[in-house]
Amino acid sequence: MSDHVPKPLQGCVDVALEVPMRQLFSYLYQGIDLKPGMRVSVPFGNRNMVGVVVANRAQPPENIKLREIHSRLDNNALFSSHLLRLTTWTAAYYHQSVGEVWRTAMPAVLRKGRAHTHGLLEWVYGLDLLPEDWRAQLGRAPLQRRVIEAFDAPDVKLTHAGLQKSIPGCTPAIKALLTKKYLQREKKMTPVVFLPGSDLPNTLTPGQADAYQKLSQNRQGFQCQVLQGITGSGKTEVYFAMIDHCLKQQQQTLVLVPEIALTDQLFARFKRRFGSRVVQIHSGMSDANRYRRWWEIRSGSVEVVLATRSGVFLEFKQLGLIVVDEEHDLSYKQQEGVRYHARSVAIKRAQIHDIPVILGSATPSLETVQNIKCGRYQQVQLLQRVGNSTLPEIQLLDLNQARVESGLSPDAIQAIGQTLERKQQALIFINRRGYAPVLFCPSCQWTAQCKRCDAQMTLHQISHALQCHHCGARRGVPQSCDACGAQELINLGEGTQRVEESLRAHFPQASIQRFDRDELNTAQKLKTAMDKVHAREVDILVGTQLLSKGHDFSKVSLVVVINADQGLHSIDFRAPELLVQQLIQVAGRAGRGSEKGRVLIQTCFPAHPSLLAVKHHQYTEFADRELAQRQRAHFPPYSHMALWRARGRAANEVLQFLNSVARHGRSMQPAETFCYDPVKSPMFKRSGQYHAQLLISSRQRSALHQWLKGWIKHVEQDKLARKIKWSIDVDPVSLF
Ligand code: ADP
Ligand code: ZN
Ligand code: ZN
Repeated sequence: MSDHVPKPLQGCVDVALEVPMRQLFSYLYQGIDLKPGMRVSVPFGNRNMVGVVVANRAQPPENIKLREIHSRLDNNALFSSHLLRLTTWTAAYYHQSVGEVWRTAMPAVLRKGRAHTHGLLEWVYGLDLLPEDWRAQLGRAPLQRRVIEAFDAPDVKLTHAGLQKSIPGCTPAIKALLTKKYLQREKKMTPVVFLPGSDLPNTLTPGQADAYQKLSQNRQGFQCQVLQGITGSGKTEVYFAMIDHCLKQQQQTLVLVPEIALTDQLFARFKRRFGSRVVQIHSGMSDANRYRRWWEIRSGSVEVVLATRSGVFLEFKQLGLIVVDEEHDLSYKQQEGVRYHARSVAIKRAQIHDIPVILGSATPSLETVQNIKCGRYQQVQLLQRVGNSTLPEIQLLDLNQARVESGLSPDAIQAIGQTLERKQQALIFINRRGYAPVLFCPSCQWTAQCKRCDAQMTLHQISHALQCHHCGARRGVPQSCDACGAQELINLGEGTQRVEESLRAHFPQASIQRFDRDELNTAQKLKTAMDKVHAREVDILVGTQLLSKGHDFSKVSLVVVINADQGLHSIDFRAPELLVQQLIQVAGRAGRGSEKGRVLIQTCFPAHPSLLAVKHHQYTEFADRELAQRQRAHFPPYSHMALWRARGRAANEVLQFLNSVARHGRSMQPAETFCYDPVKSPMFKRSGQYHAQLLISSRQRSALHQWLKGWIKHVEQDKLARKIKWSIDVDPVSLF
C-alpha cells in the first residue's frame, strides 16, 4: 500500500552565493524538485540571498547543521550545464569565489531574484470581432479608426509601444476598442522583428578565400585557430564568412571585442551585414536592456552577439563559434573583482561546447604566438591588404637631430602640410593625455604631486586645474612652487591640447579634431567626431589610444607618432610587446584607401630593435626575438605567474600582512616554484591607500595551482586578512 504514496522530494544541494568565500554552501530542501542551474532564495547569516544551485549532493556534509532553502526561483534550470562548468572552471582557475563569478555571468535583474520573465512580457494587440460596418460605427472616433487601420491584416499583432509610436496618444482609443471587443489583447514576449542587413557579402579576395578554407577545414569539435592578418587585410570579412556558415547551421556566434569606446563602428558594420540577427552587449547598457538581450540570446532569437569581456559568460541556445577579435588587447583581462582573462575563458568555453574558437589579430600576444609554436593553436595568415592598398612606409625620425617644437619636428610639420595639400587626412598620435603631464619648478626640481597617490598631477588647460589621473583629485594651478616659492613654473611634456595648439598655429586653415577622453567624454560626442572624420570634414586628427585601434579611415594617409619612447625602457617585461603592438596598430590606420600611407615615428632611439621591427613590418621576427628573451629570463609564457595583491590604509599593516603570506607560502612551497619577496607596488600610495604585492611563479601551471589552493586556505585564517583588502591575480597582465 505505502508504495502508492509518492516519496517526498527532498535532498541537499550545493549553492553558489555572491560572497567572497571561495566555497559553495550546502542547503537542505524538501517538497520540491531542485536541479543544477536553478536559482534559489536561501538564508545566509541573518539575510536572504539569491544563489545558483550548482550540484545535487548525494549526502549532506557531516558535522554541520544545515539550513533549508526558502524557495525555488525557477521552475526549470535557467542556466545550462555548459555555463555551470564554465563558471566552476573560472573560479577554480583564477582562485576566486564561484558566487563572484556568477555575479559576472548573471544579469542584474536575475541576481535580484526577479522572475525569469520580469519586464519581458508586454501587451500585444490583435483584431477581435470587427463588424462589417466598423467604419460607420467609428465615424466620430477618428483615433479609434486609425488604430484599427494600423492592423492591415486580420492576423497582424501590434505591441502597445508600437501603436503608441505610430499613433501618439492612442491609449484611450485602445481602451474603448477593447470594451467594444473590436480589439483583443494578451501578454506576450515582444516578438523580435527580423530585419535583414543592407550589405551583400563581398567576394573574398584569394587570400581571404584561402584563410576561410583553412579555418573551415575542421568545423566539428574544439580547436583554437589564430587568424593573423596584417592591418587592413580584411579579417572581419573572413569572420563574416564563418558566421554565415554558422547561421546556415542554425548556430549562434559570439564575437568578443575589446573594451574600447569604438565598437560602435564595428557593430554598425555587423548590423549592415546581418541586420537584426546581430546584437551588441556592452558595459554601458541599462540592467533592463541587458537582461532583454540576455534573454533573446538564450532563447536563440538573435544569432550573432558582439560583446565585450563579460559576454563570454552569456547563455546561448546553440553556440557554434567563438571569435576573439584583437585577441592581444589587454582589456580582455578584468583588473578588479574576478580577475579573469576573457580570451582564456573563451578558449575554455569552446572546449566545453566542443566548438571552434578563432583568435584574430595583426599582432597576436606572445602567449598566443608561443601556443602556435608548440602546436596547440593553428595559425592562418592574411598577408596582404585588401584591394590595391599596401602597408604604409614607416620612417623613424631621430629627435636627437631635430629641433622639436611642441612635440612636432620640422619633418613632421612638412609631411602634414603635404598631406593637407593632397586633400588627405593626417593622424597625430600621442600616447598620453592632458595638456602637459607635469608642472615643474626649474629652480628646485619640484613637481606637483597628488597627495593621495604616488603620482604626478597633470595640467588641464581647459579647466585650468591640476588633476590626478589615478584618483581623480583636483586642485587649482599654483602660482608659485610649493617647495621653494619660485614664481616661474613650466609645463613639461606634450599633451594633446598643446600639440593641437601648435598645429593650429602652423595650419590655421585646417580643421582639427582632438580625440581624447577629456574632449570626447560621451559616446555620442565620440560618434559625432568620428562621423565628421568619415564625412571628410576633418583634416587633422590629434589623439591618444582612442585613435589607435580598429578604425577603418579611408582618407588618412599620414600618421605621426609624437613620442614612441615611453615603452622602451620600462620595468614591465611586457612593455616592448605592448609598444610594438600599439605602434603597428596605429601605423595600420594609414593608407587604407587608394593613397599609399606614410608613418613617421619620432624617437630618440632610432636604432632600437623594437622600433626597427615596426619600421620593417616584422612582427613575427620581433615576437621570436622577444620570446627568446622571455625564455632566458623565465618569464611568461615560459613560466606561470600569480600575484598576491594587498591594500590598506596603514602602510605597515599591508606589508606585515604580505610578509606573513610569504611565510605561509614558503612553509609549503613545492619544487620548481619561486616566491619573491613582498614589495611595495610601483605606485605605493593610490587613492589614499597603500598597495603592495607578492609575486610567485612556476614552470608548471599545475604546481602553482596546487600550491595556491592550500596557501589561500591558510591566508583566509590569518587575522590580518580581515583588515586588509587582498586578492589573487592569476596570469597577471600588469605588475602594477
Ligand atoms: P582588418 O580588420 O583586417 O584591419 P577590415 O576587415 O577592416 O581589415 O577590412 C579593411 C577594409 O577592406 C574594409 O573597408 C572592408 O570593408 C574592406 N574589405 C574587406 N574585405 C573585402 C573584400 N573581399 N572585398 C572588398 N572590400 C573588402
Ligand atoms: Zn591621486
Ligand atoms: Zn621650487
